[in-house]
Amino acid sequence: MQKIVIAIDGYSGCGKSSTAKSVAKQLGYTYIDSGAMYRAATLYFLNNNVDISSPQQVRNYLDSLDITFRPNPESKDQETYLNGVNVEQEIRTMKVSDYVSEVSKLKEVRNELVSQQQKMGREKGVVMDGRDIGTVVFPEAELKVFMTADLNIRAVRRQKELQEKGSKIALEKIIQNLSERDKIDSGRKESPLIKANDAVEVDTSHLQFEEQVNLIVELAYKKIAVNQD
Ligand code: C5P
Repeated sequence: MQKIVIAIDGYSGCGKSSTAKSVAKQLGYTYIDSGAMYRAATLYFLNNNVDISSPQQVRNYLDSLDITFRPNPESKDQETYLNGVNVEQEIRTMKVSDYVSEVSKLKEVRNELVSQQQKMGREKGVVMDGRDIGTVVFPEAELKVFMTADLNIRAVRRQKELQEKGSKIALEKIIQNLSERDKIDSGRKESPLIKANDAVEVDTSHLQFEEQVNLIVELAYKKIAVNQD
């Protein structure tokens, strides 16, 4: 069966990653979390006290940045490695969340990561989620989804997720982080978060997780069938 590219973009905390992961599993596709790449770059810059106002310093550090995904031996979920070290947990901390949108604004960072993402999707059969996947990384993607959800609902979901991982964060703090990131991501000069003209908008505020996954899988099968002709 011919494979397609599925691009899932949208605001922070809409459930893009978990949805994309599940869609990929059902289709037998590879899931790529582009946000994890921006988070890993951010962690690297934080650990090395990189002055992000210096394009030269940013470029130097990008040269020694190696981001890979490897499956967890038990869950088989893809985990993020930064220069060979598993950073899957560390990149999800609030410290990284609070800084990642500043790093993601940088042209040097975007050029590097977008080119890596394009290589990863060359063979198709991928589901990639992020902010600019349908507009910049894969403008030719056969299926583009733009996910939205009410800010409060997103924050409650994110709080639960963090709690399950053992970190208790006040709802206010999460709301502040999500809305700040949305603002920076939507307002930046380099590939801002916008809905592609040909993207299908999915508001997940009142959808069950399975409903949003099934909806996207059905859309994918329709696109695959069209591509087959
Ligand atoms: O998807 P996630 O919320 O983990 O992404 C973290 C941050 O990385 C976003 O808030 C955004 O600043 C940045 N990002 C981006 N472009 C992408 C994916 C993520 O700018 N394709």
